[in-house]
Amino acid sequence: MAVKCKRCKTNNAEVYLAHSNLNLCPSCFLLLTERKVKHTIDAYKMLSKDDRIGVAVSGGKDSSSLAYILNSLFEKIDVALIYIDLGVPEYSQHCLEKVETLAKMLDRELIVYSLEREMGFKIGDFKQTIYGRKICSACGTIKRYLFNKIAYDLGLTKIATGHNLDDTVETLFNFYLEGNVEAMLRLKPYLPRTHPKFVPKIKPLIGLTDFECLLYAEYRGLPTRTIECQFSRGSRMQRRKELLNMIAEKIPNFKHSLMNSHFKRILPNLEIALSKHEIKIYECPSCGMPTSLEGMPCHFCKLTKTLRP
Ligand code: SF4
Ligand code: ZN
Repeated sequence: MAVKCKRCKTNNAEVYLAHSNLNLCPSCFLLLTERKVKHTIDAYKMLSKDDRIGVAVSGGKDSSSLAYILNSLFEKIDVALIYIDLGVPEYSQHCLEKVETLAKMLDRELIVYSLEREMGFKIGDFKQTIYGRKICSACGTIKRYLFNKIAYDLGLTKIATGHNLDDTVETLFNFYLEGNVEAMLRLKPYLPRTHPKFVPKIKPLIGLTDFECLLYAEYRGLPTRTIECQFSRGSRMQRRKELLNMIAEKIPNFKHSLMNSHFKRILPNLEIALSKHEIKIYECPSCGMPTSLEGMPCHFCKLTKTLRP
């Protein structure tokens, strides 16, 4: 006999969430997923009614789900989608088409920033530089900088990104391995304004797993990319995620526990212990945007300089 949904007890269950040991039908799964996101937003006081949010969209399952959920939970809040065209052959155009369909579906504005048109380079150009072997990390720096700059120039009050639980645990795991305490202090579900030119960042999907985001996007029929970026193959991040999934197979709530202990117990203590060593924010002498580096160009300016002859 088919298993019934644990919530409505009427429909047949299609989804099994091991971390909470729940069998759910698609409509209860969608409802509970949206409630979880609402709970995260409320718990971290991520939004207020006057906010003008920029959702960083990539054409992936996470950011598409995020845009859809924010749009349906907060109809009255000003939400615009922001897409950065990285100029990756085939991939960037494919993702652009997905985010255009999404913006039409949600009836929200889509801001497209083309790296090639605005800055005169494509992400692949880093192949020829010292960052050639770390292209995803260069890409991350470029995207973080530009999302902030675009939102700042447009006067938006928050940037929402689709980082989920798996991304967060993978990043935390890496910081623990490196002993990178400073980076740990900057990784938060809600990063408030630390400088007039720094737009606060929120991560409403931080309580959802990769699997939940994937299912959510599928059940809602959201437009999501079906091809991979040519630079993503065999990335270290992917390998670490696989390793963490192996642990979660044995300990189903491992990722949730790690994240909760970190944000609720470890981070507050770290902040108290390190409160005397306040992290200072400077302005980049070359572009004027905020940076943690004193008296030298920010990471973005350092990176883009390597492309100039
Ligand atoms: Fe950027 Fe790497 Fe993602 Fe490609 S796979 S979009 S290079 S971060
Ligand atoms: Zn700079």
